[in-house]
Amino acid sequence: MTPNELTEAFTAVYGEAPDGVWAAPGRVNLIGEHTDYNDGFVLPIALPHAARAAVRLRADDRLRLHSAQGDGGVVELTADQVRPGAVPGWARYPAGVVWALRDAGHPVGGADIHFDSDVPTGAGLSSSAALECVVAVAYNDLWDLGLGRVELGLLAQRAENVFVGVPCGAMDQLASTCCEAGRAMFLDTRTLTARQLPVDLAAAGLRLLVVDTRVKHDLADGAYAERRSGCEKAAGLLGLPALRDLGPAGLPAALDALPDEGLRALTRHVVTENARVEAAVEAMLAGDPAALGPILTAGHASLRDDFRVSCDETDLVVETAVAAGALGARMTGGGFGGSVIALVAEADAEHVAAAVTAAFTAAGYATPRVFTALAAQGARRLA
Ligand code: ADP
Ligand code: MG
Repeated sequence: MTPNELTEAFTAVYGEAPDGVWAAPGRVNLIGEHTDYNDGFVLPIALPHAARAAVRLRADDRLRLHSAQGDGGVVELTADQVRPGAVPGWARYPAGVVWALRDAGHPVGGADIHFDSDVPTGAGLSSSAALECVVAVAYNDLWDLGLGRVELGLLAQRAENVFVGVPCGAMDQLASTCCEAGRAMFLDTRTLTARQLPVDLAAAGLRLLVVDTRVKHDLADGAYAERRSGCEKAAGLLGLPALRDLGPAGLPAALDALPDEGLRALTRHVVTENARVEAAVEAMLAGDPAALGPILTAGHASLRDDFRVSCDETDLVVETAVAAGALGARMTGGGFGGSVIALVAEADAEHVAAAVTAAFTAAGYATPRVFTALAAQGARRLA
């Protein structure tokens, strides 16, 4: 959908033209899963898929929210209603950002907003962060707040943590606000320093396939919170601020010191996963993106066997893709469904995609959605 189409749709809903149009992308994380809430490393790229928003400021402090992917109605909220726990449904995500801005001391008023997003929802591609971040950048521009990309991402994260009630780390929102076209972002989630690394897979004859399994198992949210608290418990028992503070050299002694296998497995994943991010960065800096392949597959094994957040569907995609010639593959996102990424030689891309689709049909699963990921631009004004 073009900015003009968004402007027209906005006008059809609200009867006046918007002040402008903004976009904020979804993301895929190349490697570094479940590390962001352990102060660790991540390596996401922004997707061309984005939440777009046409926005018009209001003279009062009301919010009116409408989404092309919503139930058709306009959600109207008074300033008083914009507080944690008071907003139901999808409107929590955008309203939460306005709340987070006000809570941080920015006296922002109301707005009419029309959203249209092509980020698949619940697919582990961060449609929620896209929806939040597009509001954050639009408000930053319209209210001249002068906030930086990192601050905007952190405000959006706070909206999701406190207003929506999802205890996510900072990766999704920071990827949506900070990623750059043609680059992967190596982010240290403790220091919030980012290094933008050129990622030109096409020049290396490679492609990154994203397979959206279209499943999301119910236990995803509870399991996420449980893994997170397990990691915090392990760090506490080891006397560390976070599992990030444990390097591969200290891992064997730390595993000996932990009282049960569950905590040992969580710790092993986080430590080895941070090392895999660093290895991936090395590979990219060395101009050898093909070396990412085995790193991805090792990351999947760790998520499956140690962190235990994969599921039959994502395991099937990884196994099938690798058997069909992918250089490597892994689940991406929180787990229990969602999407898988596969690094493939350009010449094998169609064959791998077809093999995965055939395996899903044979297993009786719904047809997955497969597309090629390109590293796109982070949140921005379109018109
Ligand atoms: P993910 O972020 O992986 O896509 P989440 O469960 O975190 O999955 O967020 C999905 C939720 O975000 C949806 O259920 C919906 O409430 C909201 N959402 C995302 N995009 C839109 C949209 N375009 N319109 C309305 N709600 C949306
Ligand atoms: Mg989300």
